[in-house]
Amino acid sequence: MRRKIVAGNWKMNTVLPEGEMLVKQLEFLTKDLDNGVELIIAPPFTHLVTVGKYLSENGVKVSLSAQNCADQDKGAYTGEVSAAMLRNAGCKYVILGHSERREYYGENSESLLRKINLVLNEGMQPIFCVGERLEERESNSHFEVVSAQIKEVLYKLRGVELANVIIAYEPVWAIGTGKTASSDQAEEMHAYIRRVVADKFPDYAENMPILYGGSCKPSNAQEIFSKENVDGGLIGGASLVAQDFVAIAKSF
Ligand code: PEP
Repeated sequence: MRRKIVAGNWKMNTVLPEGEMLVKQLEFLTKDLDNGVELIIAPPFTHLVTVGKYLSENGVKVSLSAQNCADQDKGAYTGEVSAAMLRNAGCKYVILGHSERREYYGENSESLLRKINLVLNEGMQPIFCVGERLEERESNSHFEVVSAQIKEVLYKLRGVELANVIIAYEPVWAIGTGKTASSDQAEEMHAYIRRVVADKFPDYAENMPILYGGSCKPSNAQEIFSKENVDGGLIGGASLVAQDFVAIAKSF
């Protein structure tokens, strides 16, 4: 049985008191969550220590993730946050390669491979994002694009390392646009991703969680999560509303 995961990417939203309020709402709403779904939140860096402490001291059934990390382990890299710092702040996960980071901050496979290795070396699990742009889907090159994103990074890992990686398929055209991939489009790509992973890592592909991301909300989560190769979601906008985020988690 594969893990079921719903992860919330808060992006650059909320100041700390708002984030703390959101966490308290999640604490209340998740008390009766017993369907085996693992909930993860990825607040901004400035919230991690406070939120991490609150979650662990109050036994809240929510794990902590960062949204990014540096591609160097330490030293003179002004403004960066290292994987070791994130681990120390209580993170179990780090989102890597989100399309916003690829597009606005020039992240590429080379730097992402360095980041993945640093995150894995700290004993955390990367949530590695892949996905095509609208023009790539329209020109029918979406499979090629996603396959290259996987091969350029994940193929360079060892199987035992890959066992700690979570993939998030996020078609760029569906992120924050209100346009969701249909459940069939999601399943088609998730099954394809699993085959690409299996080509190199036949022993690990079956158990790898593959999350869907892109305008996922309470009204469409159940349909998307019902697909065989969809193991949960990476949720942006809807993760900022506690009721919606928990409703998505309860959609399994
Ligand atoms: C995301 O940015 O990871 C995402 C899935 O955003 P949204 O749910 O808002 O489309």
